[in-house]
Amino acid sequence: MEFLHVKAKKVINEVPAASRMPFRFTINAYRGCSHACAYCFARPTHDYLGLNIGDDFERKIVVKVNAVERVRAELRSPKWQGEPIAMGTNTDPYQRCEGKYRLTRGIIGVLGDAHNPFSILTKSSLILRDLDVLVDAARRTDVRTSFSIGTIDDEVWRLTEPGTPRPVKRLEAVRKLNDAGIGCGVLVAPILPGLSDRPEQIAAVVEACIDAGATSIGAMGLHLRPGVREHYLQWLEGARPDLVDLYRERFDGRAYQPKSVQHAISRVVAEVTASARSNRRYRPVRPARSTGRAPAGGHPEAGVEQQLPWGRTSPS
Ligand code: SF4
Repeated sequence: MEFLHVKAKKVINEVPAASRMPFRFTINAYRGCSHACAYCFARPTHDYLGLNIGDDFERKIVVKVNAVERVRAELRSPKWQGEPIAMGTNTDPYQRCEGKYRLTRGIIGVLGDAHNPFSILTKSSLILRDLDVLVDAARRTDVRTSFSIGTIDDEVWRLTEPGTPRPVKRLEAVRKLNDAGIGCGVLVAPILPGLSDRPEQIAAVVEACIDAGATSIGAMGLHLRPGVREHYLQWLEGARPDLVDLYRERFDGRAYQPKSVQHAISRVVAEVTASARSNRRYRPVRPARSTGRAPAGGHPEAGVEQQLPWGRTSPS
């Protein structure tokens, strides 16, 4: 791993008005992500400074070493209106190097001190390290968390998300966050054709999320934008050549799979959650609504996540 230290001029970023992102402000203290998900739609954000979207995205992590002090300063600006801030939209705020740099932890402390609402989307149980600051922040402002868990099949997990904690660890973290009073939902995403899309596989993840006490459950199929699509197909040729034809057919000149695919996914989620609701095993705080589409750029699941934190309807 290589860590490229930079001093950022600005850390709270405003999402362009034309974006379909249903939130206006984000913080990403890192660029690149050691979680190394094969399908990661944030990869193209690494295509600068001579870095590539493949190995460099996973191994050369840009660290905004002044992120905590910048956030503190930007929140004090008279122009700042205290809007909700989303973290985990372009890189995982709890990827491995957060263990060393503790930038996310520092930012949570600053946001809590400023009573500024925020949400976190992650795939890492490292978030539990920060339970103390999350609970402290939640006493003063609205704090929402979401986990991304696309599969509980260990083989699929190992193959496609090699740098992430095991799904069962993430489910434990969902349980612990909710037990601590920090609302935590789950995004069952992305669901991968030929790997994790059998109805029984999806149902098993949803059941596990319900058992973990998830406050909301949304699901979304894979989409592959140009650039990511080429990267993913090249990876697939090495990892699962038997699936290449299926993907070429599903993503034939398009980033999104046919609508019927998302409908089939949503149907499984609806059936399992309805059954769990009827016997009171699942009581969502707010139902997650997946659009089945990802916002331009950004973390693969950010479009779904943003249905969760603030209970507002999304422009997407
Ligand atoms: S999908 Fe999320 S966790 Fe996986 S590599 Fe991309 S930013 Fe990191």
